[in-house]
Order: sequence, then structure tokens, then C-alpha cells
Amino acid sequence: MPPIKIYGLLGYPVGHSFSPVMHNAAFRHLKIKAKYRLFAKKSEELKGFLQSLPGQNICGLNVTIPYKENAITYLSGYRSYAVNMIGAANTIMVDKNKRLKGFNTDYLGFIRHIKELKIKPKRTAVIGAGGAAKAVIFALLKNGVKEISVYDIDKYKSLSLAKRFRDNFPESKFLVVAAVKDLNIEDKDLLINASPIGMHAQDPCLVSSSMLHPELFVYDLIYNPLETPLLKLAKDRGCRYANGLGMLLYQGVESFNIWMKPKKAPVEIMRKALTKEICK
Ligand code: NAP
Repeated sequence: MPPIKIYGLLGYPVGHSFSPVMHNAAFRHLKIKAKYRLFAKKSEELKGFLQSLPGQNICGLNVTIPYKENAITYLSGYRSYAVNMIGAANTIMVDKNKRLKGFNTDYLGFIRHIKELKIKPKRTAVIGAGGAAKAVIFALLKNGVKEISVYDIDKYKSLSLAKRFRDNFPESKFLVVAAVKDLNIEDKDLLINASPIGMHAQDPCLVSSSMLHPELFVYDLIYNPLETPLLKLAKDRGCRYANGLGMLLYQGVESFNIWMKPKKAPVEIMRKALTKEICK
């Protein structure tokens, strides 16, 4: 009998992840002999671990904080256009020649989720300028967003994000702001939180109630907790809103489709497994 194929999530730490339940449910449903595991690796172990994938029968990985950007250095095969544009890979596949190919499915996950939500943003404000922000901004630019204002606690990160995209999307306008109050949310149709603020119980809400308006859609990439202080505020102000669970689901679906081609991910099975886990 051929050995079970291994897939998994690489990061540090990874204990909080919902990815194993989602992928293992999909493997079981499609009777695929594979297992999805967690790989918590320290930075000094990263290179050796990635080089050892073929020998360990590890056929594919998702990559999370803090390695999405570093992992690119160790790709030995194809890397997608999105990986080059975003500067981060969250999906690795080991090909039959034992080369590591890199993809970004965070941006695809976000696109699928906003399509499901039936929103077509034109003017967007984004809090945070890290890896996830770059993926959602790339997604928005590909979908014809006209204006993006970015605020990060580290202004250099916002400036470098704007520099990354400006040349390739000259028809879209970038505004980098130094304070959250300068995001001008009043004239936006979408506000995205792509910072980690809201993950912990004591976290503040970065925007005030008066900055929100009922025509605004508020999207928080955080999915644990399901309702952050920002989403609670959005609900109270009568805004439409969503947490990052849909993006998490669809990035997983897109990673599965890359690894298992031509098989297709069983989306509803994966959604059900995720929802069950998060409601535990
Ligand atoms: P990241 O690379 O660390 O980026 C977060 C950025 O936010 C950093 O530049 C950080 O600056 C900045 N920041 C921190 N505190 C801030 C504040 N008070 N105001 C403004 N900016 C602030 O992390 P990431 O990978 O982009 O992830 C960001 C969030 O998205 C996390 O909560 C993650 O769980 C979530 N996420 C969700 C999905 C999904 O599928 N739903 C996918 C990916 C990520 P410093 O580095 O200076 O602290």
C-alpha cells in the first residue's frame, strides 16, 4: 500500500489553527489517503524543514505567520504571478521532480468571499500593511478598485506596500496615512481590518463609531473571535459586515484544488467542519 500523503500548516506557533479540521474533513469525504498536520517550526529550522519535504512524503503545505514571506526564498520551482506581486506564499506544493512550487491563495480566498457577499468595492480603507493586507489589496486591485487608503502603525510598511502596487496598477489611487483618523472612511464603501488588533479580549477598537456610516461594509480578517470590537461597532452602526471565516475557508479550498488537481474541494463539507470547530 502506498504511504499516506502528508499535507500541513507551517508556522510558529500554529496551535490555534482551524485548517486541519477543514482539510481532514475534505480528505475523508473524498476518500483520499492523506493527512493534514501542524508543523510548528522555529526560524532556524525553516530551511532544513522545507528542504526535507520530499523525503518525509510531505506533498503540500500552507504557510502562516511568520513565514509567508521568508518561504519564498526556499521555493525551487514555479512561483505564481500572485506570489511575486504580493511577495508572500501561503501555499507550497512539492511536484513530481521534488521541486517546491509557491502559490498565494489568501487573495483568491478573499476574492471568492467578497463575490459571495456580493460587494464590489470602489473606495477602500485598509488598516494594516502586512502580508494579509498585501493579499487583499492585490485582490481588490485585480477587481478594479479605484482608491485605497492604507494605515499601518509603521508608516514605512504602508509606503512600501503602496510602492509595490502603484507601478502595476497605475489606474488606482493609493493614499498612505499616518493616523487612523485620516483614513477618511466617510467616503469609502469598504473598511478592512488587516491588522491583528481585535484578536485579544483587551484589544481596542481602532476606529470610532462616528467614522462609520450605514453604506459602509466592514470586513475584519480576524475569525477568532468571530465578532471583534470593530465588527460589534459595525453591527451597532447598522453597517453590513463580515469576519474572516469565509476567506479562511476559500483560501483552504483553493489550496486543496492546487494540491489535488483535477479533484475539486468539497466546499460545503469544509465549511461545515470549520463552523463545527469554531462553535465548539
Ligand atoms: P502581519 O504580517 O503581522 O501584518 C499585520 C500588520 O498590522 C503589521 O504591519 C503590523 O505592524 C500592523 N499593526 C499592528 N498593530 C497595528 C495597529 N494598532 N494599527 C495599525 N496597524 C497595526 O500579519 P498578517 O499575516 O498580515 O495578518 C493580519 C491579520 O489577518 C491577523 O489577525 C491574521 O490572523 C489575519 N488573517 C486572516 C486570514 C483569513 O483567512 N481570514 C488570512 C491571513 C491573515 P507591526 O508589524 O509593526 O506590528
